[in-house]
Parts: sequence; C-alpha cells; structure tokens
Amino acid sequence: MKILVTAGPTREPIDPVRFISNYSTGYMGYSLARCAKRRGHDVRLVSGPVELTPPRGIKVVHVETAAGMLHEVKKNLPWCDCLIMAAAVSDYRPERYSTGKIKKDKNKVLLRLVRNPDILMSARSAFRDKAIVGFCLETGDLVKNAIRKLRSKGLDIVVANKVDERHSPFGKGKTEVTIIDRNGRLDKIKNAAKEEISKILLDKIEGYGIL
Ligand code: C5P
Repeated sequence: MKILVTAGPTREPIDPVRFISNYSTGYMGYSLARCAKRRGHDVRLVSGPVELTPPRGIKVVHVETAAGMLHEVKKNLPWCDCLIMAAAVSDYRPERYSTGKIKKDKNKVLLRLVRNPDILMSARSAFRDKAIVGFCLETGDLVKNAIRKLRSKGLDIVVANKVDERHSPFGKGKTEVTIIDRNGRLDKIKNAAKEEISKILLDKIEGYGIL
C-alpha cells in the first residue's frame, strides 16, 4: 500500500519570534510511518516541527503551519491509498501576523484567532475512495465524541486518545486509546506503547478490505 502519514504539531505564527502550538511530539506518527515501512508499504511522511530523527527510507516533507500541512497533504493525496492523520493540527491561527515583534508596552493584548481548514474533511471530500484514518483527543465523552468525528469527517477509522490527570497521550510513554472503525467495531487498548498501537492499527488497515 501507499501510505501518507502526518505527524507532530503545527505552529501558527503570531510575530517573527512567537507562535501558538500544542504539546504533540510527533512520536505516534513517526512510529506509524516506521512500522508501515517495515511491513513493506511505500510511506511518505508530512511532519510538523518535531525533534525526532526521520525514519530511514521514508520521504519526509517538513511543514510549519496547518496551511503548509494542508498544501502537502493535497499534493500527496492522489499518490496514496491511505491517509493517516496523526498530526495535531492547530484548530486556530492568529487572524493577523505582525511583521514586527509585538512590544510589551501594553498590559493586555488581544489575540484574535480564526479557524484553520480541516485537512481530513477536505481530503475526504476530494477522494471518496481513499482509506482515511484520523486521531482525536478528548477530555470528556471519549467514545461518543470520537464516533461523532468519525461520521462527520467521513473516516474509516478513528483512534481516540484519552486525556486526563492520569493519561497523557503526548510523547513516548505508554497510553490508552480506543480504535473505532466505520462499522462500529470498538477496541480499547490500555497501557500500550505507541509501537504496539501502530501495529494494531496497521493490522486493521491492512485487513479491513477498504482498499
Ligand atoms: O476535530 P479534531 O481536531 O479533534 O480532529 C482530530 C483529527 O483531525 C486528527 O486526525 C487531525 O490530524 C485532524 N485535523 C485536521 N485538520 C485540522 C484539525 C484536525 O485534519 N484543522
């Protein structure tokens, strides 16, 4: 299979020295890309800014912003059979970019944010026939919200990450996910390394009969 993976956060610039972003490290996406490559798939990786060594033998394209990631995903979509959006794309970006560094001469600064385009949505509306896998991260009603996202974004599979005081999905530690497919099958994987989650997810993608 030809698999396009996205990984890491995006950075949305405020001025030449500041940005908004999130805690994503890219570990999940890089692990998936490496695992898929080892299984003999043809893999391309679109990566946000991370501190990870690119997996060997994989073409990696580096991007900064959600707009940059959208551009690269669109460019590579016709090539792939399957898109796995493991990236934590910033939902919002500053409405205005200040070309000069914002001075600290005011006590309050208002930063107005605007929605970023949803990459998964545009991928699905452009290609009905691709296998599309999304991730989500919820602090409440994990399964309910994940199923809602699976349906609204037209996904084949969603990987739902639990976030609370005891579970952090960020970085290379073990985590808990629930993998839900479009047929309603639900698998809860507790205390698993991301390498393990990658294998289970790729087993599902390969055996799913959606390609
Ligand atoms: O809606 P939510 O952001 O929770 O969905 C997460 C999933 O959507 C992830 O797979 C993420 O890569 C993708 N996403 C996207 N474009 C965005 C925001 C999230 O494709 N602008």
